Order: sequence, then structure tokens, then C-alpha cells
Amino acid sequence: MSARRADAIIVGAGIVGAACAVALARDGLRVLVIDAGGAALGTTAAGMGHVVVMDDSPEQLALTRYSQSLWRAQDDAVRAASELDWCGTVWVAEDEAQLEALPAKQQLYRDHGLETEVLDETTLIEAEPHLRRGLPGGLLVPSDAVIYQPAATIALLALARTMGAEVLQRMPVEEIVPCGVRCGADTLRADVIVNAAGAAAASLTPQLPVIPRKGHLVITERYPGFCRHQVAELGYLASAHVMTSESVAFNVQPRSTGQVMVGSSRELVGWDASMNRRVLGRMIARACEFMPALADLVAVRTWTGFRPATPDKLPLIGRWPDVPGLWIAAGHEGLGITTSLGTATLLADLVASREPAIDAAPFAPDRAVTAGVH
Ligand SMILES: Cc1cc2nc3c(=O)[nH]c(=O)nc-3n(C[C@H](O)[C@H](O)[C@H](O)COP(=O)(O)OP(=O)(O)OC[C@H]3O[C@@H](n4cnc5c(N)ncnc54)[C@H](O)[C@@H]3O)c2cc1C
Repeated sequence: MSARRADAIIVGAGIVGAACAVALARDGLRVLVIDAGGAALGTTAAGMGHVVVMDDSPEQLALTRYSQSLWRAQDDAVRAASELDWCGTVWVAEDEAQLEALPAKQQLYRDHGLETEVLDETTLIEAEPHLRRGLPGGLLVPSDAVIYQPAATIALLALARTMGAEVLQRMPVEEIVPCGVRCGADTLRADVIVNAAGAAAASLTPQLPVIPRKGHLVITERYPGFCRHQVAELGYLASAHVMTSESVAFNVQPRSTGQVMVGSSRELVGWDASMNRRVLGRMIARACEFMPALADLVAVRTWTGFRPATPDKLPLIGRWPDVPGLWIAAGHEGLGITTSLGTATLLADLVASREPAIDAAPFAPDRAVTAGVH
């Protein structure tokens, strides 16, 4: 396929761009994916890979629930490459107030077809023996998963290629123009242009309210069975929701290698990718408060990444009215691994003028967003 004769050009070969490539190619469009660097090397490589239903807002719940169901139904090769592990999540209550809120949370999940189990002090420890004694309880959500998202992204791109898509790497897009993208002296044309440039989306479409929100992660040596579920404090949602300049929350993940991934932090420091030892120290101290045995594990690597954050914590999915042919699939903050498939299906439905499975209006890129992030 000639690069100049694509029907759809996707800017960004992260997990969102890769998922969009599959969805649009499946609809018969000739897809060209362009990335300034390499596939799955942006935020996608820096995330945790928790495929989780989150209930920060009804819209977030609808999109995460929908997306998770699409991970379940994903192509066999993609599922295998993604190392999908349906290990479930244990949300840990830190105090009685959080514990008392659990039945309502459980009911909300039930309303969306998800069965959960409220854990008391004893069953919490049975579920995760390394948690600190004396924690009042928690909520087990068995239907959540963990994936290895760089491999999932590469597998999605491979699947798109089998449907005729082409992927160009190390090719920065300098400008998005009506029905086209400019790369150096070349302008590549297509009826559909998708800005899936993650945290850098606003560098190409400056009006987009997307900014980088930095996070640190740590991964340990191999300790198979150290934790059995993704384990996170219930306060994680508040840490993600409130756009403070800095926050940390307890969040650990078992990897298929036996390693334990420890998160997470959030900072608004622009594109400063440096290791902030103070924040990292706070993050690890928080994790050890909940799971003291973590202090005995050997960490092998730490890194940072940039979540593509929006003011209302919802991604931007849909047509961008100011530029002919332009569509947006960006701004997924800390849920882009989970919501990539839902985003892509929603976007393809909108491009094809089909009725989407969930309401797309809350994700319209030109919706009024308050509490500006710029
Ligand atoms: C610490 C941390 C933990 C996380 N944990 C989770 C989790 O457990 N679960 C979850 O669901 N999500 C998680 N996330 C969020 C998730 O990683 C992101 O939401 C997701 O990876 C965003 O994917 P993307 O494809 O939009 O962006 P990216 O992966 O950043 O891809 C965008 C691509 O666009 C390219 N690009 C940018 N500008 C240009 C240009 N001008 N020309 C060409 N190409 C360009 C970049 O090179 C990049 O490859 C986490 C994120 C972080 C940082």
C-alpha cells in the first residue's frame, strides 16, 4: 500500500493508536500508522497494565467495563501475546469510613453485571497474606486483569498489518492539516486522520486539554506468589481524581515473571522525566505501610512515564470539528491500557456513523471541560 493512498492515518503507535488501527482496518479502511519513535515506546511502555473497571464517574465506569469486555473477547493471538492474567483486584480499605462505603461500591458493580466480594479483616489477609494485619477489609473484584501492554500493542499492530495496515516508525508528524499530516517536506493525505499521540496530543492539536502527568514505577526481582491479585488502596481513586501537583497511592501488581510491580505516583511537572527520589521514597513508604514485606524485596528497576491527563479525567474520543478529517483518541490518563479497545471501537463506530455500544457524547473532544489543566 502506498503511504499516500491511505484511507486513515493514525498518528501514534501506542496502545491506543494500535487498537484504532485494528478497529479501522477491520472496517475495511487502508490504515497507515505513523510514530515519531517506535511502536509501544511512549507511555504505553511505562504503564502498569492493570485492566480494571473503575468507578470514578459513570462515564469512566461505562468505558472501562466495555473495554474490559473487549479484552475478554480479543483475538486469540493478541490475548496470548498480552499475557492476560485474570488475577482480579483487591481494593484495600484503610479505615472504617472506607469499609462502610464498600456495600454501595459493590452494588454499583453489580448494577454493571460484575460480582464482587466484600472482605473482612480475616478474609482480606487470606486473599493477600502480605498485607499488614489490622486493616479493616476490602473489596475483591475477580474480573479484573493484568496484561503486558507493550507486547499487547505489538500484537495489535501485527493484527492490523494482517488486515493491510502499514506502520511507519521514526517518522515525526510535524503538523496535522485538513485531511493530511505533514512529515518534513511530505504531506500524506487521508480522509481520516487520528491524533493518538498520547500525552503529546496537544503538540499537534493545541486546543486539546491534554497534559503529561508523571508517574513513577518500581519492579522487583522474581518472587512468585508474593501477591496474588493487583492490590490497591481505595484511596487510589482520590489520588488519580484530584489534580494536585503531587500524590502517591499504594498499588502493587503480580507479573507473570514472578516480579512485583510497585506504584504509583502522580506529579504535574511538565515533561521532566527525571527520577524524583523524594516522591519515589513517599511512594515506596506508602506501599510498605500496606504491605510491610515489600521492604524485604530487591528492586531491579525504576522508571517514570507520562499519563495523558485531561481536566475531567475522561479521554477525548471523536471528531475534532475545527480541522476537516481530524479525529482524536487521546487523553486516557492512567487507564489507557484498559480503555484502548473501547476507545478504538467507539472511534470506528463514529467514523462509520454506526451507533456505538456506549454513549460517546461524554468523550467528545470538544466537550466543555472545566478545571483547566493548562
Ligand atoms: C506509571 C503509569 C502507570 C499506568 N498504569 C496503567 C494501568 O495499570 N492500567 C491502564 O489502563 N493504564 C495505565 N497507565 C496509563 C496508560 O499507560 C496510558 O493511558 C496509555 O499508555 C496511553 O497510550 P497512548 O497510545 O495514548 O499513548 P502513548 O503510548 O504515549 O503513544 C503515543 C505515541 O504517539 C507518538 N507521537 C507523539 N507525538 C508524535 C508526533 N508528532 N508524530 C508521530 N508520533 C508521535 C509517540 O512516540 C508515542 O509512541 C499508566 C501510565 C503510567 C505513566
